[in-house]
Amino acid sequence: MLFKELAALAKEIASTSSRLKKVELVAKLIRSLPREEAYKVLLILTGRVFPPSDPRELNVSWNTLLKVISELADVEWKGVDVGEVVENALARRKRRQTTLLERPLTVEEVYSHLEALAEATGQGSRAKRESVLRSLFSRAEPIEAWLLANAIVRETRLGLSEGLLIDAIAKAFGLSREVVERASMVMGSPYHVVREGVDLTPRVFRPLRPMLAQTANSVEEALKEFGRAAVEYKLDGVRVQVHVSGDRVRLFSRRLSEVTGSVSEVVEALKSLNLKEAILEGEIIAEREGRPLPFQVLMRRFRRVNFSQELVEQIPLKLYLFDLLYYGRSYLDEPYLKRRETLEGLVRPSVQIVPSLVTDDLEEARRFMKEALAKGHEGVMVKRLNSPYVPGVRGRHWLKVKEVHTLDLVIVAAERGYGRRHKWYSDYYLAARTQDGEFLVVGKTFKGLTDKEFEWMTKRLEELALERRGKLIRVKPEIVVEVAFNEIQRSPKYKSGFALRFARIVRIREDKSPEEADTIDRLKEMYGMKGYVGRGSAGSLHEKI
Ligand code: AMP
Repeated sequence: MLFKELAALAKEIASTSSRLKKVELVAKLIRSLPREEAYKVLLILTGRVFPPSDPRELNVSWNTLLKVISELADVEWKGVDVGEVVENALARRKRRQTTLLERPLTVEEVYSHLEALAEATGQGSRAKRESVLRSLFSRAEPIEAWLLANAIVRETRLGLSEGLLIDAIAKAFGLSREVVERASMVMGSPYHVVREGVDLTPRVFRPLRPMLAQTANSVEEALKEFGRAAVEYKLDGVRVQVHVSGDRVRLFSRRLSEVTGSVSEVVEALKSLNLKEAILEGEIIAEREGRPLPFQVLMRRFRRVNFSQELVEQIPLKLYLFDLLYYGRSYLDEPYLKRRETLEGLVRPSVQIVPSLVTDDLEEARRFMKEALAKGHEGVMVKRLNSPYVPGVRGRHWLKVKEVHTLDLVIVAAERGYGRRHKWYSDYYLAARTQDGEFLVVGKTFKGLTDKEFEWMTKRLEELALERRGKLIRVKPEIVVEVAFNEIQRSPKYKSGFALRFARIVRIREDKSPEEADTIDRLKEMYGMKGYVGRGSAGSLHEKI
């Protein structure tokens, strides 16, 4: 397919607000292409370029992109997104010289250029990336440059949510939406379904979307809903999906990126299990003398690219398993109790299981939660005994009960601070997710971060910039922060109709994707609770209602 054709189609998709029409256009596109090409096209159209489990990153900042464009034409800051700015710039370019050999760009060619961007690492990588960009954009027509620039900054604004992609794939392949959705969760993404076809069985070394939990306000609420249930410690660490085949072990984060290289001692412990083929799940925490170290300390192990023995000694990791998804065959549809029982049969002293209790006795469950908190954990996870493992779904089979009530929100914009903070973007607009994947602002805060974190945040926000206006920077919704607050108020200030009072960032959740942030519905649910008082005031929520 010519890239120009794809760009024209992208414009058509952008110009219609009808979801149905978008689905139709994408379905037709998928049908018209070989699988591998359809896969690449969808990745470009959704501004991903690589699927979630692919560790590659483009590493092209907005500034680098604009530097290259301004060599080709005058950049003027008019337009709603980077793509338009680039498109307009190239449209003003004097007639470019074309050589006889120059052919129009194809999708395949563009994609391999994008791969070359990701593969430029180490010394001189910046110059390499610039040269790849130059060779792409010097050949691109304005409309092609529009799609390219937006794909590179990972914001194509075509309104192609994952749900819409799933509908389009179902339509293209003549399958039900349920089957395509389930396959997307089991295979890791809808892109995989397009490339490989539907496969509903987990495969070792192909990460699945993790099953997600909802919140209960108290152990009592959870037990009322489930009756007899399993209550497990909720450890405050990094969730990992463990894939084992003999002495080959790989671990993936909840966002499906590989973390094997960061957790050497856990890998060794898993190797000693000597499992033939298995997919397990658990939480990694940093532990010293039986107590968990703070989450921020733990994250240092995951940030380091280079393995350092010193860091391993300073921050020793331990894996606590809590689920089994595959063991010679799929266990997804087995009930919780059976999965847990099988898991218990596998562990050795080197790899442990999250402590759990099966009970219908409220007092016993409360005591167990107290014990978890006393040992420095976050709370408990209450699980329905007969529940299957449902990849990628936030259902009510698992209910988390925490002591402190917070919301995971996404930063969508920021402002420069005053005085000492003028060098940083230090004031953040916090947004909650709607059902349609939109992000609505529910509050603003400049509290909670250290100087180092402000610095990190400023750099990250610059990379994610979509628009700058004076002190304000609007960014692609990507950074998730856990926010504590005193109260939820109704407020006309934001479109959401809500505003958090005294919001403060508890921590940056690098392990969470924006799709995993809390929803406006969750906020409404909290708001609906009479006398809600969050962290910072006496007592915890579940004692108040
Ligand atoms: P949250 O991050 O607050 O949405 O809580 C869900 C997360 O809790 C999961 O993704 C896991 O990383 C973590 N977790 C800790 N302990 C458990 C457990 N026993 N069962 C399931 N998830 C757990």
